[in-house]
Amino acid sequence: MSDLMHATQADEARKPPRHDWSLGEIEALFALPFNDLLFRAQQVHRAHFDANAVQVSTLLSIKTGACPEDCKYCPQSGHYATGLDKEKLLEIEKVVAQAKAAQEAGASRFCMGAAWRSPREKDLDVVLEMVSQVKALGLETCMTLGMVDGAQASRLAAAGLDYYNHNLDTSPDYYGEIITTRTYADRLETLANVREAGMKVCSGGILGMGEAPRDRAALLQQLARLEPHPESVPINMLVKVPGTPLENVEDLDPIEFIRAIAVARILMPASHVRLSAGREQMDESTQALAFLAGANSIFYGDRLLTTGNPQATRDRALFAKLGLHPERRSTCQDDAQQQSSLEGALARQTSQARSAALAYDATQA
Ligand code: SF4
Repeated sequence: MSDLMHATQADEARKPPRHDWSLGEIEALFALPFNDLLFRAQQVHRAHFDANAVQVSTLLSIKTGACPEDCKYCPQSGHYATGLDKEKLLEIEKVVAQAKAAQEAGASRFCMGAAWRSPREKDLDVVLEMVSQVKALGLETCMTLGMVDGAQASRLAAAGLDYYNHNLDTSPDYYGEIITTRTYADRLETLANVREAGMKVCSGGILGMGEAPRDRAALLQQLARLEPHPESVPINMLVKVPGTPLENVEDLDPIEFIRAIAVARILMPASHVRLSAGREQMDESTQALAFLAGANSIFYGDRLLTTGNPQATRDRALFAKLGLHPERRSTCQDDAQQQSSLEGALARQTSQARSAALAYDATQA
């Protein structure tokens, strides 16, 4: 590639975000030679972010299982026998205690998820109190509670909720194969209500559900059409849970997954692209490629909502190996404290790893 072409692409990377990507343009990005795609994604990433910083969130299930929706990937759906223990809405004190523990371990954002179609009014009152108490700790707050109408979104925003997560899951065409109890339009309406209420939007999808390559492109097109783009874009790899209808679906090639991360980075240059569910099944090389492709957010901790997540110590070891560091928050008064918690844990782990390596070397000598 010529120097002139490099320069042109670098200029391209600094352009303001677009919302009018055609499916053909997106498919053309997916079809680029892998090295060229990752190079473009890196240029975009570096034009908008510190390329070695990763935002760190922790996720807690505040109400588990017995969900009336029929999302075919989900162990929490009441339609499938997955052996999941159901739990009622957690008490506020327990949620706040977990949030404190996450903060001490270095998380900057605390995400709370409830398996509901949409929150009932009496549950919403409890949830609002959770938001304000978690927020008072100095953490960013995020919730995923199913569909919300305009009034519910406004109340959540007034309680101090920073982010609301509601995924589009897949393309409009493939959607009916995955969920029948709510429509794509319902999802877009919830996202519009969240935005209207002034909250930040977290929305992404799940790959590896048997969708065609065109569906992955169409999902990203839908996300990139949102104006403004979602601040946070979780890209999940399906976790095949026994008992769900997708338990035996064919694996998605990890290279295809990395391509989707890179295309998401190019389409939504200023958004945090989150390497989300499915990370436990990924080896370190795949995760490293995902960061190279522009992923810059992870869930940190031992559990996602109901499926496993790489243990925090493994994450810290991977950060140390790759020279990554937790992203600094610009708005939080407790920024320094949050930063030092995770950096302290990282430093301890790196020095332990070095001691272990030296001990190993000594035995070889
Ligand atoms: S993904 Fe959410 S809405 Fe769908 S079944 Fe699971 S908990 Fe319910």
